[in-house]
Amino acid sequence: MGSGVTTIVNVRVFTGDGLSELSTVVIGGEVIVSVTADAGGEGDGDVVVDGGGGTLMPGLIDSHVHLFGAGDLERASTWGVTTMLDMGAPSMELIAGLRAVPDAPTIRTAGLPASAPGGMQTTRMGFARDSVVTGPGDAERFVAARVADGVDYIKIIAEDPAAMGAAALDGPTIDALVIAAHTNRLRAYAHVTTVAAAQLAATAWVDVLTHVALDAGLPAALVTEVAAKGLVSVPTLVMMRGVAEKAGGASGDLVTHRGVVDFAHAVASVTALHEAGVAVLVGTDSNSAPGSPFGIAHGESLHDELGLLVEAGLSPVEALRGATVLPARMFDLRDRGAVTPGLRADLVLVEGDPTVDIAATRAIRGVWIAGARVR
Ligand SMILES: [Zn+2]
Repeated sequence: MGSGVTTIVNVRVFTGDGLSELSTVVIGGEVIVSVTADAGGEGDGDVVVDGGGGTLMPGLIDSHVHLFGAGDLERASTWGVTTMLDMGAPSMELIAGLRAVPDAPTIRTAGLPASAPGGMQTTRMGFARDSVVTGPGDAERFVAARVADGVDYIKIIAEDPAAMGAAALDGPTIDALVIAAHTNRLRAYAHVTTVAAAQLAATAWVDVLTHVALDAGLPAALVTEVAAKGLVSVPTLVMMRGVAEKAGGASGDLVTHRGVVDFAHAVASVTALHEAGVAVLVGTDSNSAPGSPFGIAHGESLHDELGLLVEAGLSPVEALRGATVLPARMFDLRDRGAVTPGLRADLVLVEGDPTVDIAATRAIRGVWIAGARVR
């Protein structure tokens, strides 16, 4: 819990469009109290922090993680990640335990993901049998069970049926899951790492496509459909790169992709989605799980993802928006995502100007979670 008054002087604030003039930001308790032009003085407050002319950003939001222990949270907050959207957790007890950790990132969770009978989630990744959805008629049961668990949204594993057969959810089942989620006022996030899966998910009108196809670039018609339907992309390029490297390029043995895995397809698709006006948000798929396709470090990987998104064509400001204001607005995190009076004091102080050089986000000098300094 934040206590007392902290005054951060001599900082430029990330406004969502760029940087402010030199400013003074006052934190009282858990919230931002004021943001004013720097008066040039030393500042008042129980604690005064000299920002050194650096940049004060909202706490970073990672829109795709998996959590397994308190160490994941500590690594995240050390790197400025203050909100984490879990995209598939083995148990709600685990999440409840992590939510009880003090001064740690906020956690939202999908709980168990919806997956096909014979899918990797239950056969290899350790998710409970309740994760399995047997067909369209089973969708309401699955979503009702997640609602009873208290999840924040529904995660759907979409795969290429031509590659996976019965180990892939079919189109009618994905449709039924999305309808059941929306009937319960929950968003639907689809795991899509192939063009075929992305098409099934877009047809079903999911809210969010997470990952991006590795087997081919998204066809122009599908990019247009994603944009027209207002779907959101969380490409997790850092995971896509890891999977592609592990698979050894086009000769990979990934059954999910019929052997065709190329990171260049993922990058090209992100470029196309961005150019079509699709909101591209920052997610890493960070995990410390045994059985995951590729280990990704919590926290630091978000900075890798920002860099990869800039390489794919986002401006640094656009990439930063994808880790701050955009997920806050799109995922009902309206108490955060901007350095604005009244919002939660989740803040990251960095040296330099990340709106010019995205790598500057790594030069972290301070992190606050709900007003409590954690770094
Ligand atoms: Zn994931």
